Amino acid sequence: MGTKGIKIVGMDVNELLNLLNRAFADEWLAYYQYWIGAKVVRGPNKEAAIAELTQHATDEQNHATMIALRIIQLGGMPITKPEDWYRMTNCGYDAPDDPFVKKVVEQNIKGEQCAIETYNKLLQKTKETDPVTYNIILQILQQEVEHEEDLQALLEDIEVMLKGGR
Ligand code: FE
Ligand code: FE
Ligand code: MG
Repeated sequence: MGTKGIKIVGMDVNELLNLLNRAFADEWLAYYQYWIGAKVVRGPNKEAAIAELTQHATDEQNHATMIALRIIQLGGMPITKPEDWYRMTNCGYDAPDDPFVKKVVEQNIKGEQCAIETYNKLLQKTKETDPVTYNIILQILQQEVEHEEDLQALLEDIEVMLKGGR
C-alpha cells in the first residue's frame, strides 16, 4: 500500500473498500455465469452466443483483476472466500439451469443492467473524491455498456430466427 496514494482519497477508505469488494464479488459471479452459460447453452445461434459469452467471461475476470489491484493499493484485502461472493454481491447470480439460448442471454442482459447501475453509482461517489478509482470504474463501465449492447443485438438475432427468419 502507498501511504500518500491513500491519503489523497477524499472519501472514507473503508467505505470505498467495502463498495469495491462488493463489485469484486459481482465480477466473479458474472464471470462464472458467463463461463458456465457458454458451456451449457443450446438453441438457435448457439455458436455466436458461445463466442460472445466466452469473451464476456474473460472481460469480467479482467474486471475482477482491476478491482483486486485497486483494493490492495488502498490497503484492503480482496474477498478470499467464494462463499463471501454471495454475501457481498449487488447483482446476484442467475444459474443457467434452463440452457435455452434466449433464456441465458436474457439472464445475462439483466446482469449487465445491474452492473451498469452499480458502476454508475460508484462513479458518482468517486467523481470528486478519488480520481484513480474513478478512472478504473469508468473503464469497467464502458465495457459493461458494450456487453449489454452486444447481448441485446444477439437477442434480436435469436428472436428473428425463432420467428422463422427473414
Ligand atoms: Fe464486469
Ligand atoms: Fe459485463
Ligand atoms: Mg461482446
